[in-house]
Amino acid sequence: MKKVKIYSPATIANLVCGFDILGMALNHPQDEMELILSDEPGIRIKHTDGYNLPAAVEKNVAGAALLAFLDEYEEKIGFDLTINKIIKPGSGLGSSAASSAGAVVAANHLLNNFFSREDLVRFAMNGEKLASGVKHADNIAPCIYGGVTLIRSIFPLDLVSLTAPPLYVTIIHPQIEVKTSDARQILRKEVQLRDAVKQWGNIAGLVTGLLKSDYDLISRSLEDVIVEPIRSILIPGFDQVKKQSKEAGALGGGISGSGPSVFMLSKEETISNNIEQLMKDIYNKIGMEYHTHVTTINYEGVKIIG
Ligand code: ADP
Repeated sequence: MKKVKIYSPATIANLVCGFDILGMALNHPQDEMELILSDEPGIRIKHTDGYNLPAAVEKNVAGAALLAFLDEYEEKIGFDLTINKIIKPGSGLGSSAASSAGAVVAANHLLNNFFSREDLVRFAMNGEKLASGVKHADNIAPCIYGGVTLIRSIFPLDLVSLTAPPLYVTIIHPQIEVKTSDARQILRKEVQLRDAVKQWGNIAGLVTGLLKSDYDLISRSLEDVIVEPIRSILIPGFDQVKKQSKEAGALGGGISGSGPSVFMLSKEETISNNIEQLMKDIYNKIGMEYHTHVTTINYEGVKIIG
């Protein structure tokens, strides 16, 4: 029996100014999955977590990704997938991407890497379509490639892995649900040219700052004048978290993916720990439940562990 166990990391999509085109993989939290290659055609999905996610193949994002994978594979084979979900669904930390990306990386490993990593991104995007209504790769690509990824284009797929200096990431996940599909719907369809110009400057600045390990440039470029002003309304305490985190030394930060999680980047661990505490204080005052994480960039992506 051929089987594989993997860890699949949480990811932060958008990275403030890079709506739909930038993403970063995290060392924590990570989902665990086990995939068995079977002679019996079809896909069977089991969950060992308490999240009550759909087991039906066409309703589970991992199922949607594996169906796309099997569609292009030459032989009739099947998979038995067990998911232990650690990344809370709907957190804005790429829970759906971890399942779809993890499933296809595991399947490819069992088939001696028959497909390229780009193919895997393509298959896994079917899972994102199921979760949010549109194909996007800003969680999937960093989940599979690790590190920070630029998605220059998805049709045709053009992915660029960016080098990035060490960064600490502090995350607060308020326990409210923001559906990715809703968070997309509230966005304006048109952008003012002056806002677009600001955003282009910030994206170029952020990418350059990452490549040159220029923390000041990274910090100056972590600004979103298009999406954040609208989406942040859905997140209680957002402005306070951002203001106080910056005062405590954060380089900057914003909404993780479509929220509700909020993340802040720092150069030093002590700063990121202080930010965790101030985030907790703010939410304790608001009286809203939350989870926090302090973590770092995951440079390796989905990991085969046995
Ligand atoms: P996130 O940013 O945390 O991935 P999304 O809203 O994009 O949040 O995705 C979560 C949605 O996808 C939920 O509605 C959930 O029910 C659905 N879903 C289906 N299968 C899975 C899966 N295997 N893992 C996570 N979410 C799944």
